[in-house]
Amino acid sequence: MNILLLVALALLVLHFGVPLIYYVYAKTRWLKREWNIRMNESYRPRISIIIPTFNEEEYIEKKLDNLLEQEYPLDLIEVLIVDDGSKDKTLAIVKEWMKKHPELNVKLIISESRKGKMKSIFDALKYVSGELVVITDADAMLGKNAILNTVKYFADPSVGVLTASLKYYAGKLVKYENVYRDYYNVIRIAESKVHSTPIHSGVYQVVRRDILEKVPREPYIEDCFIASYIAFSGYRAIQVDDVWSYEPMRGSTIRTKIRRAQFNISTFLNTKKITERTNTYKQSPFDYIWKIEWYLYIINPWLLVLGTTLLVMTLTQGFMISGFLLILGLILLVSKTFRTWILQQIFLIVAMLKNLQSIETMWKK
Ligand code: GDP
Ligand code: MN
Repeated sequence: MNILLLVALALLVLHFGVPLIYYVYAKTRWLKREWNIRMNESYRPRISIIIPTFNEEEYIEKKLDNLLEQEYPLDLIEVLIVDDGSKDKTLAIVKEWMKKHPELNVKLIISESRKGKMKSIFDALKYVSGELVVITDADAMLGKNAILNTVKYFADPSVGVLTASLKYYAGKLVKYENVYRDYYNVIRIAESKVHSTPIHSGVYQVVRRDILEKVPREPYIEDCFIASYIAFSGYRAIQVDDVWSYEPMRGSTIRTKIRRAQFNISTFLNTKKITERTNTYKQSPFDYIWKIEWYLYIINPWLLVLGTTLLVMTLTQGFMISGFLLILGLILLVSKTFRTWILQQIFLIVAMLKNLQSIETMWKK
């Protein structure tokens, strides 16, 4: 057999095998573990909810109505809407809603010009008084018990940051997205049981305020950086299975996914260095999870590209088996799971190449 062909096979076996084995291992060994967190069901901290907004006229009213339905004492909740000078009806809708609902403490902070999502959030921290800060997107709807189910984890001081499990609720690609979500939700929750997961979603992310204030304001700061930085600092950064957030797919799905992948990649390339620089790094079981995820995000996508390229090369040298495998790959694309996986690998590759230029901190809205 040809050496190129052998290399191609080895790369492809690794590419598909490593994540598959990791998934099965996480699901059978880790997912059933105890949390090892001292929860307290009657813990009732004060909560500050930050909603960054830019042109959210379609969702902001639904979002506020959704918060009003939370099964948590309203007098322990304050809401800060940090708007970057929306050009649509967002501000008018919020003001109207505030008049109608004095029972919820809502503050509106308006910036003259656009600063971007993360900068708005961090600038708003000075107005925040709760022990826990909830960061949540205007278009994300929460289960009624989201906050109630969240707080018990924070009764244990080892928990620094928590994110919800996610589902998409609208849009043309919903079916695909939920295939991918189920796969990732299992891995993220399993990793969280061991210690922490590096991948969090800003759709709903809850952070202890004093810890959030110490997170360095890096240019590519995002949900995953916040989670990973906090996990490296020795606190738990968890995704839990009893807090759910529902998000619509809107705008260009491909652009959104590439943008999010770019942030994930920056997080993997930079966070560890930063925790060492700021002297906050602490050894923990998170180190192993980090190494595996690092491999899955940074290295593994390239094995697919290389393996496929080598297959095509050996095909031109007349190896039947290469042709067979390439055709098998094409046929497997009928499967939604397989297609979603391949697309995700392509997004990661494109994101890595785009990161060589710049990251979008302010996107078209
Ligand atoms: P995606 O879900 O990653 O596609 O991002 P979205 O466009 O849904 O934005 C997530 C949240 O950030 C929403 O609540 C937006 O209104 C808000 N947002 C997006 N861009 C900005 C911005 O430049 N400034 C502020 N303050 N909020 C923003
Ligand atoms: Mn969104």
